[in-house]
Amino acid sequence: MNNLFDNAKKYIAGGVNSPVRAFKSIGIDPIFIESAKGKYLKTSDGRELLDFCLSWGPMILGHAHPTVINAVTEALEKGTSFGAPTQAETKLAKIICDAFDSIDKIRFVSSGTEAVMSAIRLARGFTGKDKILKFDGCYHGHSDSLLVAAGSGVAGISKSTSLGVPEDIIKNTISIPFNDEKTFCETVEKNAKNIAAVIVEPVPGNMGVVLPEPGFLEMLRDITAKHGILIIFDEVITGFRLTFGGAQHIYKIQPDMTILGKIIGGGFPVGAFGGKKEIMDRLAPDGNVYQAGTL
Ligand SMILES: *Cc1c(COP(=O)(O)O)cnc(C)c1O
Repeated sequence: MNNLFDNAKKYIAGGVNSPVRAFKSIGIDPIFIESAKGKYLKTSDGRELLDFCLSWGPMILGHAHPTVINAVTEALEKGTSFGAPTQAETKLAKIICDAFDSIDKIRFVSSGTEAVMSAIRLARGFTGKDKILKFDGCYHGHSDSLLVAAGSGVAGISKSTSLGVPEDIIKNTISIPFNDEKTFCETVEKNAKNIAAVIVEPVPGNMGVVLPEPGFLEMLRDITAKHGILIIFDEVITGFRLTFGGAQHIYKIQPDMTILGKIIGGGFPVGAFGGKKEIMDRLAPDGNVYQAGTL
């Protein structure tokens, strides 16, 4: 086992392609996976393990589910990427639009990070404002604007959680505690004319699972609407997992935009962002907010 990790470290930075996989916080070397089926993993050192991770969410049907494998095999044989549209994309888009009342139109990308990044640009283009407001402990991928947390002690001063994020970018992200109505209202009151969007995991799943206080999400929806601020629900974890129509279905709230990822890809690199028609129509080629992708 050690050997595999040592060998990986020779060629891959840190031996892994995403930091948590290094198992640093639990003080052991990572396990390497040979194969998986249903709820079981087979490790490279010959153990069979019950999988509570499921690729961090996407494998909700279990590993190598026959329906998925058949569909993917059929698709592979027809070629994998064309740089031109296919009917399958429209079919998947319709399933997702039908599942979420708040989504009229969608755009597919390759990861949750990319979906969030694009949605933020669209929110800024749509509102003509620059700042975004997020909540401490919510994770929205690793784009510059979102690797920001509240600075220690000083209200309204943000700091980045990574080196390499310019001050000029950090200053446009405000991060405040989740479930804190008073801080939210005061922050919006002070910055309303500069805030393009509020982004939130409606049921945060990246700091343990934290339920929103009764009325908290409704309050976010009301206050943002009042100030011409878009509200973006990051449902990369909750979408198609909490229930078919996501957390917004359970809480009966319509966000302006929704982020999807993990589960909609079923183990393949797919993300998406969608929302109301008048917002989504501002994307290129119909509008002048640019977003694109080779794959
Ligand atoms: C995983 C996650 C992302 C990022 O998705 P990637 O596909 O890893 O880029 C964004 N938002 C939430 C809530 C997530 O859990």
